[in-house]
Amino acid sequence: KLRDPDQPEFHQAAEEVLASLWPFLQANPKYLNSGIIERLVEPERVIMFRVSWVDDQGQVHVNRGYRVQMNSAIGPYKGGLRFHPSVNLGVLKFLAFEQVFKNALTTLPMGGGKGGSDFDPKGKSDGEVMRFCQAFMTELSRHIGADLDVPAGDIGVGAREIGFMYGQYKRIRNEFTSVLTGKGISYGGSLIRPEATGYGTVYFAEEMLKERNDSFAGKRVTISGSGNVAQYAALKVMDLGGLVISFSDSGGTLYNPDGFSMEHWNQVMALKNERRGRLEEIAGELNLEFFAKQTPWHLPCDVALPCATQNELNESDAETLVNNGCICVAEGANMPSTLKAVDVFLAARILFAPGKAANAGGVAVSGLEMSQNAMRLAWTDGEVDEKLHAIMQSIHAACERYGKQDDGFINYVKGANIAGFVKVADAMLAQGIV
Ligand code: NDP
Repeated sequence: KLRDPDQPEFHQAAEEVLASLWPFLQANPKYLNSGIIERLVEPERVIMFRVSWVDDQGQVHVNRGYRVQMNSAIGPYKGGLRFHPSVNLGVLKFLAFEQVFKNALTTLPMGGGKGGSDFDPKGKSDGEVMRFCQAFMTELSRHIGADLDVPAGDIGVGAREIGFMYGQYKRIRNEFTSVLTGKGISYGGSLIRPEATGYGTVYFAEEMLKERNDSFAGKRVTISGSGNVAQYAALKVMDLGGLVISFSDSGGTLYNPDGFSMEHWNQVMALKNERRGRLEEIAGELNLEFFAKQTPWHLPCDVALPCATQNELNESDAETLVNNGCICVAEGANMPSTLKAVDVFLAARILFAPGKAANAGGVAVSGLEMSQNAMRLAWTDGEVDEKLHAIMQSIHAACERYGKQDDGFINYVKGANIAGFVKVADAMLAQGIV
């Protein structure tokens, strides 16, 4: 009997992990005999709550808030909050499930969780966003804590929202603790946290390219999204000598076959982080082509970095990428490729890294933010960047250890899933049936 049939994203994430783990589980029956799989797919706890807030016109709105506390075998729950109209329990369970394996891969002691709301920050004033965040945190504050559950940002939750939520937590609990990460530098945030997921994805892809004695120099790179992850993935690609040829948002794709300049990048940053506008608005100003309502996957490229959202790259997109000569795909977003798209990449034997390995840099630096807060000190940007780089290299090595085939091909899906699973499963075995 299929439990929760209305949660397709969660089933998709579980299927991807379990299918690639299966031969390993058969060879290691201790994991099969102890109900580990049954326990891994059931959240330890799910909290759902009402969030009521008042808009600028005095109108009352009601949204739904969630926190999925998925697995705490190796540390306190850790994972972002997403504010987007598409948020529902199934989406958050898929994200929390992925987070468990991802956090294990970082080498840091963090369990997995995820939360958020179906609230849409787009088009809302700062005052409305603040009132929503305060209402959301008023309830969430009962369920989180620096040694219990430490949320962070995700889609729709950036520095502004984290600041509003942190202020409300502090007001309610009367304590200054590391209960959220992604905080501003002036109140306990870590340098390099905004950059971490994007930089980490590119560091990981760089390790993959090295496997084929290759590098980013001169590579045409398509990037989807234009939010936090996409912005800093683009910056690092440019830094390594690659040509970033696209950004996108839900309105379409901005294309520059010659590669975006730093000036273009600054304009995208200002548009998305300050004016909170749409890419379409600047296409004319920059004299660049804009493909309305289209993703970037039809554009010929060498490397593709999907950095927007789940299931944004399907089987036919994957075929187009492979046919156009793309040699490397690293997921900055969570589960951007459908199961069939992943099959296409693996069958074509191109370099393919799943999000749980390639985008783990964000949560890794969140873990470093918690360490700095606990020690009451702050590392320099160089120190944090160095640790991030080393963590991404160690995740690559773990994928290689468990995913390298006899013919030398690295199946990063298999490698990441087994490496993450073994750490969590061993901790669960040691702690008994709980
Ligand atoms: P942001 O909110 O900063 O940006 C999201 C981007 O994706 C925007 O450009 C947005 O466009 C686009 N997007 C979102 N939903 C859709 C959709 N349904 N269709 C088309 N485009 C869409 O989020 P982040 O950059 O933080 O997150 C992006 C991805 O990376 C997510 O999958 C997230 O889970 C993952 N991730 C993020 C981490 C982080 O540290 N931030 C860590 C690890 C993973 P628009 O504005 O038009 O909606």
